[in-house]
Amino acid sequence: MNDSRVAVVTGSARGIGLAVSRRLLQDGWVVAGCDLLEAELEERASELGQDFHPYAVDVGDPDSVSGACEAIEAELGVPTGLVNNAGITRDGLLVRMDPADWEAVLRVNLTGSFLMTRALARGMMRARSGSIVYVSSVVALTGSAGQANYSSSKAGLLGLTRTLARELGSRNIRVNAIAPGFIETDMTKDLPEEVRAGYAARIALGRMGQPGDAAALVAFLLSDGACYISGAVIPLDGGLTT
Ligand code: NAD
Repeated sequence: MNDSRVAVVTGSARGIGLAVSRRLLQDGWVVAGCDLLEAELEERASELGQDFHPYAVDVGDPDSVSGACEAIEAELGVPTGLVNNAGITRDGLLVRMDPADWEAVLRVNLTGSFLMTRALARGMMRARSGSIVYVSSVVALTGSAGQANYSSSKAGLLGLTRTLARELGSRNIRVNAIAPGFIETDMTKDLPEEVRAGYAARIALGRMGQPGDAAALVAFLLSDGACYISGAVIPLDGGLTT
């Protein structure tokens, strides 16, 4: 067990972040749930109980991040778990991709993860304990037509993972990434049926992933069972990329 049992989860109002929050609460963590969607977060808080604490944050905004992280440390104590999960897509083929859509995706997915980590790493360094997880994607490894912005942001997270594993390891802070394949959430629900069928045909286990599948892996990476795992990128794709 870590000394502190406070974990910060970004993008926790929906999908994978919500499932991660639920799972960490079951495992005895106090969870600071961070999301843009303030009203939805409040609803989640009433469902999830008193150990779930909602914080309205835009992870891509330095002031919003520093304000929320200071409040979390003052109100809950120093977090030793951080799950950088908030993410967006703005898909389009390269030649038609608006630079604003490139910027928006990089800002939330990559810069947001950097800002959250920077804000909370100092506390973990003092505590000499921490586990940081980045939610990347299989497209960071394989590429994905129509997702130059998204796949670049997710590949950037792998650089951050490996660099920070080296930078923070001597303070007993572990840094890992998970690379989900197809997980059924709001992000994937509007994909055309032929795209879904195309994925399904290539997944060795023959089914789409569920948010709980990602939550189980993240919870393991935050646990002491993963005490010698750092700098790893773990595919979570049912065998899609094998
Ligand atoms: P989702 O759209 O269901 O949930 C994303 C959450 O992030 C939402 O609650 C949203 O409000 C929040 N968010 C967005 N921008 C934010 C910001 N600027 N600040 C704070 N919160 C913000 O998506 P999901 O499928 O649960 O995805 C979670 C993560 O998993 C993302 O990083 C996504 O890229 C990654 N991922 C998902 C899949 C998949 O198949 N669903 C596959 C690989 C990777």
